[in-house]
Amino acid sequence: MAKYFALIPAAGTGSRTGDPTPKQYQPINGRPMLWHALNPFILHPRIERIFVVLSPADAWFAQMRWDEFEPKLEVLRCGGESRARSVLNGLQAMAGTLARDDQVLVHDAARPCLTRHAIDQLITQVADHQAGGLLAEPLADTLKRADEGGHVLRTEPRERLWRAQTPQMFRYDILVRALSGGTLEGVTDEASAVERLGLQPLLVKSGATNLKVTYGEDLRLAEFILNSHPGP
Ligand code: C5P
Repeated sequence: MAKYFALIPAAGTGSRTGDPTPKQYQPINGRPMLWHALNPFILHPRIERIFVVLSPADAWFAQMRWDEFEPKLEVLRCGGESRARSVLNGLQAMAGTLARDDQVLVHDAARPCLTRHAIDQLITQVADHQAGGLLAEPLADTLKRADEGGHVLRTEPRERLWRAQTPQMFRYDILVRALSGGTLEGVTDEASAVERLGLQPLLVKSGATNLKVTYGEDLRLAEFILNSHPGP
């Protein structure tokens, strides 16, 4: 029987928040954002172990308290120059622990509002899907293509367009093959690498509350969402 593991790339600098503290360590409700990203996996009974990938130069993690996560959490200091490189380095470091057909849920440290229900949906719907799958949200807004001056060039059709989220879940061997088989340039999520293999990952409908924190104001929004739902 395949087992389930989580891999959290957290080796970014997150300069777009406008704060010298890396994004994953910014406080939300008095705890680092990374704590909130890890917590639903720590609590989930199907997840065997959680691997977090840090930058080798990370001086922040060690200053914070993680003891309540300890038996399930493993720290890998092998982050690379891009998100995809950090994920691939993490997968290679996990090689001794995982079997080929074990499932890996890759989740951004910058998504602190993931719920237990969303993890359940992903596992249930994707477990028997050969190509893996990801949480995603159907696009609701009208899309505009701009010219260089910021004026509307045209309106783009939005039919069947989705916003990719994380976690994204793939078999270990497929994920390693997808990420090590070509350039990592332009690979902003795992699904895009898997698509290059000619596979079609399954889109699992998720909501806007699984937001990605990118700019400073997103932190307060994440706080609001976490305080409005009863917990992971
Ligand atoms: O910067 P962005 O929001 O796209 O980062 C998404 C996730 O990838 C974050 O959790 C970030 O810490 C991680 N990352 C990484 N290694 C990098 C760049 C980003 O692990 N070199």
